[in-house]
Amino acid sequence: MFSSLTEEREVVGSAELTMTCASCAETSLTDVFRFKTVDKWLGIVPVWVTQETVAKCPNCDATVRSATRLDELLELLPHQVGDRFHVRVGFVEKFLVVAAWALIITGPVSFILFLISAFCVPKASAGWRKSIKIGLIASAAFLPIVFAIALVADLVAWLVR
Ligand SMILES: [Zn+2]
Repeated sequence: MFSSLTEEREVVGSAELTMTCASCAETSLTDVFRFKTVDKWLGIVPVWVTQETVAKCPNCDATVRSATRLDELLELLPHQVGDRFHVRVGFVEKFLVVAAWALIITGPVSFILFLISAFCVPKASAGWRKSIKIGLIASAAFLPIVFAIALVADLVAWLVR
C-alpha cells in the first residue's frame, strides 16, 4: 500500500539555447526543455510538484538540469547559461541519503532524513533521487512491518503456551 507513488511529467516549454556544457565545456546550440513533475500518491493525491529545466549536450550527451526558468535563461550569455546547470550531487546530500539508509530500522527517523534529502539532492541525479524515493517508501513501511512481526510473535507465543 506504500508502493503507489507515481510520477507525472509534462513538457511545459522548450527553447534553443547556445550554452557552454557543464560537463565537456563545449559551447553549442542545445535544445532545452522545461518539465513539470507531479508526484502523486495512489495516482490521485499530489505529494509534491517540481519544475526543472533539462538540456542534453549535443557534444558529450550529458544531461544537465537547472531550476532556472527558460525566459531567464534566454537573457543570459552561453557560459552563464552553463553555470545554471548542474550534474553533480554534493557530499552532504550523499551522506544524508547513506545515513538514512543506515538508519532504516528506526522507521520515522530514517523517513525524516529521506525527506530532507529529497529537498537537498538536485534533480540532476536520477540514481540518488530513485534511492531517496525507495527509501521514503521503505522507511514508512518499516514500522507497520515491525508491529506486524511483534503481533505474530505474540500470537505464536500465546498459542504454544
Ligand atoms: Zn557536453
